Order: sequence, then structure tokens, then C-alpha cells
Amino acid sequence: MAVLQILTVPHPVLSKKCRAVGPGEFDASLARLVSDLAETMYAAPGVGLAAPQCGDLRRVIVVDPGNCTGEQDEDGRPTNPRFLALVNPQVIEASADKMVYEEGCLSVPDFEENIARPRRVHIRFLDERGVPWQRWFEDYDAIVVQHEMDHLEGVVILDRVSRLKKGRYLAKRTKVRVRHDGSLEY
Ligand SMILES: [Zn+2]
Repeated sequence: MAVLQILTVPHPVLSKKCRAVGPGEFDASLARLVSDLAETMYAAPGVGLAAPQCGDLRRVIVVDPGNCTGEQDEDGRPTNPRFLALVNPQVIEASADKMVYEEGCLSVPDFEENIARPRRVHIRFLDERGVPWQRWFEDYDAIVVQHEMDHLEGVVILDRVSRLKKGRYLAKRTKVRVRHDGSLEY
């Protein structure tokens, strides 16, 4: 296990669409990716992490929404880590009912914004051994899973706020110029 580096915007990998993990790829490399992502998430600390945030373009996320409320040791690490790995996650059904939550992101430091997402989502995914699952996620759990799934599409929370807010944030953080169509000029 290793703590990986977390990429931050405007790193170009964060806007790439990830590729599905194939049937023959549930191997040692995938197992290592999952355990490294979990260790990196707990070290941050965070409640979810997507592979592209660490520069890997496989469709893999880890989540542990209970991490912020669970018991921790003196180093701030959970004493009973129970993360869930979702490989190739897909939304089967989403509630019309929305929930607004002030989201932050390890790849977008010092930025929080209210974002509305479906309150309940039914997700189909594979675990790290390739076993298929279907599960409903609700409320905060649903927010975390949807946030991490956005990363697999190359979408970060900055892409869900106004162009003006996004431009202001990026201008403050970097020397990057934002074109009128919202794309970035390096
Ligand atoms: Zn994020």
C-alpha cells in the first residue's frame, strides 16, 4: 500500500474520461490501485477518491462516507476503515428529488460550493474482485458516490458552477487563462 499524490486542477488528466476495467483486468494491479486509493483517501483525509485524481484512468472509485464521523486513532486515521470500491459504476435509476450539499474536492483545494444532485441513486458496479452488485445510495452517501463518479467522466465540481466562478478560482490559483467558451489556455 502507498499514499499516492493527488492531482489538482487544472491538471489535464482531471478532465479526461476514464476507460472501463475489462473482464481480464481484475488482477493484482487493480487490487493495488484499490488499496492505494483507500490509503490515500484516509491519509488526506477524505470520504471518497477516484482513480483519475491519482493519475490512473481506470473507472475505479473508493468511498467511505462514514469516515468523517467514525472513530479515529491519534493520527486521525479511522480505527475501523470500511471503504467500498466501485469499479465501472453506472447509475441505473436516480430520484427526481434533489439534495443540495456544500461539496469540496481534494483536487480543488480551498473551494466549496452548493451543488444539487439526486437524493437517491441506484448504482450497478463491480467490486475489486469483479463481483457484480446493485445498491441504492441515499442522502450523503449518494452525494459522495455521484461526486466521485463525476471524476470518471472528467468532471470536477468547478464544472458544475458558473463559468465566472470557475474562471475566478482558476485565475486565483494559476496563471491559466480561461477562454470565453470555458476552455483553458495554458
Ligand atoms: Zn472530487
